[in-house]
Amino acid sequence: MDKDEEIEQLKKLNELFEESNRAAKIGVWELDIQTNHIFWSNTTKVIHGVEPDYIPNLKEAYEFIKPGSNLELVQYHVNNAITNNIPYNIEMQIIRKDGAEIWTRARGTPEFKEGKCIRLFGTFQDIQDQKEKEIELINSELKMGAIFNNNIDALFLTSPIDGSILRANRAASELFGYTEQEFNQIGRNGIIDTSDPKLPELLEKRKREKHITTDLIGIKKNGERFPIRVSSGIFSDSQGNTQASTCIIDMTDIKNYQNQVEEIARKFKGIFHSTFQFIGFLTPDGTLTEANDSAIQFAGLQPADVIGKKFWDCHWWRISEQTRAELKANIERAAKGEFVQYEVEILGANNTTTTILFNLKPLFNERNEVYSIIPEGRLIQDIVDTRKELISKNNELSRFTTIVSHDLKEPLRMVSQFMNKLEQKYAGSLDDKARQYIFYAVDGARRMSKMIDELLNYSRISEKDKTFEGINSLNLLNDVKQSLKQIILEKNAIIEISELPEIIAIKTAIRILFTNLINNAIKYSKSDIAPIIKIACIDDINNWQFSVSDNGIGINKEHHEMIFQLFSRLHSRVEYEGTGIGLATCKKIVELHHGKIWVDSELDKGSTFFFTIKKNIHA
Ligand code: ADP
Repeated sequence: MDKDEEIEQLKKLNELFEESNRAAKIGVWELDIQTNHIFWSNTTKVIHGVEPDYIPNLKEAYEFIKPGSNLELVQYHVNNAITNNIPYNIEMQIIRKDGAEIWTRARGTPEFKEGKCIRLFGTFQDIQDQKEKEIELINSELKMGAIFNNNIDALFLTSPIDGSILRANRAASELFGYTEQEFNQIGRNGIIDTSDPKLPELLEKRKREKHITTDLIGIKKNGERFPIRVSSGIFSDSQGNTQASTCIIDMTDIKNYQNQVEEIARKFKGIFHSTFQFIGFLTPDGTLTEANDSAIQFAGLQPADVIGKKFWDCHWWRISEQTRAELKANIERAAKGEFVQYEVEILGANNTTTTILFNLKPLFNERNEVYSIIPEGRLIQDIVDTRKELISKNNELSRFTTIVSHDLKEPLRMVSQFMNKLEQKYAGSLDDKARQYIFYAVDGARRMSKMIDELLNYSRISEKDKTFEGINSLNLLNDVKQSLKQIILEKNAIIEISELPEIIAIKTAIRILFTNLINNAIKYSKSDIAPIIKIACIDDINNWQFSVSDNGIGINKEHHEMIFQLFSRLHSRVEYEGTGIGLATCKKIVELHHGKIWVDSELDKGSTFFFTIKKNIHA
């Protein structure tokens, strides 16, 4: 190899060296102590952010170092190297030419000749990236530490080999009552009940699957034993050591809560199965998920025969296709949020049948969607039978009253007719006494006829063929007023009617109702003052509440209920004429409209009769 080739080779080697240094961001530098001349390699210049042709002097070189502790550190080490022949390796911050602050590492080695330093040289490295990572690491370690310490659950770092506790957080100390140092001494076995037979298998499992969650008994420093949930995982730390991180939760409250929930569930099950009612749970698509013992036993079945099946396919409903179709349609309604109730005949064991009052009650979640339906059936066969009997008896009685009333009226008419004839024909030969007897007989017959009419009214009220219709109650009251014109005039009565609503009711019945109440209000007035009768109505959500008040003689509190019974009167016929049928008729009419009637009154202070009628009679 000739000289040129050798130089060329050296150049290449130098370039290679520079290249690798550039990649590692390591430059070299040299300070000639005698001349104070400084040499910076290209990479050193790049680190400082200066041009390749830049040549610094000592003063300028120092000016790149961040003032303060950094500069002091460099000056100290440079002096120490020059005077005491001690090399250095320091980290410092410099300010590059573009003003950016970066971390660098400077190594310096002094060269001595005859006891005197002649040269200082070394490397200069940009370690900003490294430093940032380091800071990041410190920060994340700090963060992890903070998370570990401030976690509300007890956290432990343990060695899976011997069960020693390496670290324990604040919550762990609060829960068990030990300091971190005490934990270090007693280890894992000091805080859990090691007599638990499943422990060895659990540790094996953790080794195998790297993680376990289990319920154990914890032991506090004061000896108290308490339920804990342990969640533990195995991992390798940055040095490759196997460690276990364990989280322990105090389960005392949760266990108590669980016990309470179990207790409630037990009670619920008890009630659910022991009630006479048939009850269960359906999903909105009609699948039976649960049915109580009463329902299942009634049909002579086993739970497996019905649970999980569509409700309408179950035994109870196989009485007819129509029953099943009706149930299916009603479940669809309930699934849309409607409460459905109807009476239906169902099939029991050995093909017996019974009637139940059946409900489908939808249950809603917080988004107001139906998530379940409760089917419930009450055995009402007895009620149905009694009701049938009652209806038939009532019809019988009604027929009887109608017939008897009609039949009685005929002889009554005869009595008054012939009494009148007797009076006309023998007018001259009758004395006062005889005329008085005839008057009593005719008057008795008239009253009896009135009584029969009222009784007929009373018995006809509940007849089935009554139709409900829209009624303008103000018009109806004006009609009533008109029909009572005579007594109103006689007694100088004032009738004040306030605004009244349009109602749905049986017109003839409501007319009788108002006639009776207004008639009574005028009849039972005080002799010395003119009767003032006020009729009003208020809207009571589902009902209309009417009131008829007067300034009459009033009614003692103890009679407020009995006056609504048939034939009950508080006065003699001589004081006030009447039959005792009027208010009983009113009560029957009001009940026909699903309402109530009552009186508010005090003796001598007037009375107010209230009654309600249901607005939507078909609901
Ligand atoms: P009647 O008026 O034919 O006797 P009712 O059934 O209408 O029968 O009334 C029962 C009783 O209630 C009456 O006998 C009377 O004593 C009392 N009563 C009814 N309305 C009033 C009223 N507005 N003021 C005072 N007492 C009344």
